[in-house]
Amino acid sequence: MSFSKFTKTDFNLIAKEYASLEEAARRRCKSEEEFQTIRRAFEFANEAHKNIRRLSGEPYILHPVAVAKIVVNEIGLGYKSISAALLHDVVEDTNYTIEDIRNLFGDKIASLVGGLTKIKSVLDNENKSYMLAPESVQADNFKRILLTLNDDARVVLIKLADRLHNCRTIEFQPEHKRDKVLAETMFVFIPLAHRLGLYEIKTEMENIWLRYKEPEAYQEITRRVSQNVEDKEKDIDAFIKPIREALRRACFDFEIRKRVKTPYSIWHKMQTKNVPFEQVYDLYAVRIIFTPDPGSVETERDQCYHIFSIITGIYRYQPDRIRDWVNHPKSNGYEALHCTLLGQSGMRVEVQIRSKRMDDIAEKGIAAHWAYKNEGYLSEQDSEMDKWLAKIKEILQQKGDISSLELLDMIHEDLTESEIVVFTPKGEQRSILRGATALDFAYLIHTHIGNQAIAAKVNMRLVPLNHVLQSGDQVEIITAESGEPKKEWLQFLRTRHAISLVIDYFRDSFDELKKEGDAILSEEMKKIGRHQSNRNIKHLLLTTQLANRDELCFRLALGLVKPEDVAASFANWDSPVAPRPVNYVVDSQTEAGVQRYIIASCCGPIPGDPVLGFLSPDGRTVTIHKKSCPVAQSVAAKHGDWVVVPDWDDVKAHSSFPVRISLKGIDRMGLLSEITHFISQVMGVNMTRLTLSVDGGIFEGFIEMYVSDKKLLNKMIKQLSSIDGIESVVRSEI
Ligand SMILES: [Zn+2]
Repeated sequence: MSFSKFTKTDFNLIAKEYASLEEAARRRCKSEEEFQTIRRAFEFANEAHKNIRRLSGEPYILHPVAVAKIVVNEIGLGYKSISAALLHDVVEDTNYTIEDIRNLFGDKIASLVGGLTKIKSVLDNENKSYMLAPESVQADNFKRILLTLNDDARVVLIKLADRLHNCRTIEFQPEHKRDKVLAETMFVFIPLAHRLGLYEIKTEMENIWLRYKEPEAYQEITRRVSQNVEDKEKDIDAFIKPIREALRRACFDFEIRKRVKTPYSIWHKMQTKNVPFEQVYDLYAVRIIFTPDPGSVETERDQCYHIFSIITGIYRYQPDRIRDWVNHPKSNGYEALHCTLLGQSGMRVEVQIRSKRMDDIAEKGIAAHWAYKNEGYLSEQDSEMDKWLAKIKEILQQKGDISSLELLDMIHEDLTESEIVVFTPKGEQRSILRGATALDFAYLIHTHIGNQAIAAKVNMRLVPLNHVLQSGDQVEIITAESGEPKKEWLQFLRTRHAISLVIDYFRDSFDELKKEGDAILSEEMKKIGRHQSNRNIKHLLLTTQLANRDELCFRLALGLVKPEDVAASFANWDSPVAPRPVNYVVDSQTEAGVQRYIIASCCGPIPGDPVLGFLSPDGRTVTIHKKSCPVAQSVAAKHGDWVVVPDWDDVKAHSSFPVRISLKGIDRMGLLSEITHFISQVMGVNMTRLTLSVDGGIFEGFIEMYVSDKKLLNKMIKQLSSIDGIESVVRSEI
C-alpha cells in the first residue's frame, strides 16, 4: 500500500467502478432503504481509503468495490453482505473501529465486518517472528476462518470473494508472496469453494493457480484447446441440432450450452492419469438447461429423465458413464443427470441435464440454495449442504481445543476426500469417506455405538470391525454392553472424526498413558543418542505438529506417534518439512557461505521447472519443490514465511538431477534396444533404472535417469515419442 493524492483520473475511475456495482446491486435490493445502506457503506469506505493505493498503483477503494461486485454477481448475496464487502478493510487499515461501524450500519453488518477483520489481521500480514513457533499462526488463521462458519457462513463467502480478487490481481505481488497466497488458495480456499458449491469461483481460482504455477503447461493446454475447439465446432453443432429439434417437438422450454473443459481440469487429468493431452477424451460437454413446466404432471426430476430418454433415442450412450445426481445429489448439493453419448463421427460428448434451479445452485452454490429455500422450495435433496455445514459446526464446537494444524488437516480431508454411499439396516443413506471401515461407520452413527462395537454385518455377512466398506453396502453394527475402545483401533480407523472420538475416550486415562509414552520416548532417544534437551523436544513437536511434550507422550503410548517417527524426525533434521527421508542434496558455495539445497523427492524438480523453496529455520538449507507440488502447497499454506525464491543458477553448477519418464506403446521386435540406444548413445544420458512390462502386445513402463535440465528432458520426450510404436511418453513422479 502507498499514499498519494488522488487525481481526476482516479476519481473518475472510482465513480465508474462504483456505478457498475450499483447497477448490479440495485437488482438485489428489496427496498430503497437497503439500496441507500450500500451507498452509505461505499461513501464511508471511499472516504476512509482516500489517497491510499494498492501495490498496482490503483486507488485502494477499487479493491472493496471489486469484492462487493463478486459478492453480488458471482455469489448472489444481498445488501448486508455487499455493504460488509465494501467495508471489509476499513477497520484493519484505518482508524475506525467496529463500534463505529455498528453505530452507523447496525449489528449484522458490524458483525460481518468484525468476522472479516479477525481473519485478515494476521493472514494478510507478513510477520517473521513466528518462524520457530511450533504452532503455525497461519493455520490458526484458517481455524478462525472456519470458526466464522459457526457464526455466519456469509463471512466465509465474502472472504472467498476477497481471495478471488486478490488472485485476479496477484501479478502485482512479489514472487514469494504469490507462492504463499496461491498455496493457501489451493490448500484451503479452492476446497472450500468446492464444498460450498461455488463452481465458477473455484474454477477461476484453479486456472489462475495453474497459470502461475505451471505457466508453460497452461499456455500449451490453452493453445491446444482453442485449436481443438476450432476444429470440432462444426461437429458439435451438428451433434446438438437433432437434440434441439427433438426437445422442441416435445415442447420443452430449454437452452443448450456448449462447455469446454477448463485448462486446470485437463492438466489435473494429465497429471493424475499420466496421459498426454491427446488422451484426455471428454474435452466437451453439452449442457441442457430447462425450465420445468408447472402445468406438467411430471415433476422436475421426471422431466430430467424424460429429456434423457429423448436424447438417448437419438444417440447411443455409454451405460457405465451415467451419473445420476438427481436421485443422489452430491454432498455439496450438486444435482444433475450426466451421460456420455456417442456422436456421428465417433466423438464422445458428455451431456449434462439440469433444471434452471439445479443450474443456479451448481454455478452459485450455497447462496442460490438459500434463496430457493426461502422461496419455500425445500426437498430432501437440497438439505445436503445444510447437513455438511452442521457437521463442520459440530467438529468446530467439539474440537475447540484442538491444535490448529490438526484441525486444518482434518477440514482439508473433509473438504477434498471423496465419499461413498452406504446404508443403515433401515435403508437410510449415509455418506462416508472412501476407504472407511465398519468401525468408522459405527462412530458416524453415534459415539456410543462406536465405543461398544464388537463386530459388524455387511450385507448380512459377519465381518470384523476393520472391514473396509464399499459403495452401496448395507451395514449393521453389533455392540456389546461390555464393549470398549481398544488402542489397536487407531491403527485401522480412517476418518478423523472416529479417530478423534477414540482419542477422546483415552483422555480419561491421560496421566497413565503419558507415563507409558514417557518411557517409550526415553528409550527411543537413548537409542538414537539424543538428549531430551529443549531444542530437541521443540524440534520433535514441530515435526509431529503437537502442542507439548505431554501430548507427544500420550500419543506415543496410543501408537499414534511411532518410535520410528521420533528417529525419522532427527534423521531429517535439516529439513523438517521433507516428506521422505531420501532427498537429493546439493551443496553450493555462495558469497554468503555454503548453501545447502535439497531437491524434494516428492516432486523431483529439475532446472527449468517453476520452483519454490522453503528456508529451514537455521537459514542455511533450502528445500526446493515444484511450484505445483501438493506437498509444497500444504507446507506453504501452513508456513508461508518459509517460502523463498530459490536461484537455480546456484544449484545448476552441479549438473544432473534424477527424473522419471513413463512410456506406453505397442510392442515390436527391437523396440527396447532402440529406446535404450537412443537415450544412452544419442542423448548421452545416464539411465539408472528401467522397468518395462509387456502384456498382450502392449508395453508399459518407466525409465529413471539423470538429466541436466528441462530443455534436455523435453527434447528427449519429443524424440522418444516419434519412435515407431511408442504411443505416449510423459514425465512422471519418482
Ligand atoms: Zn514437492
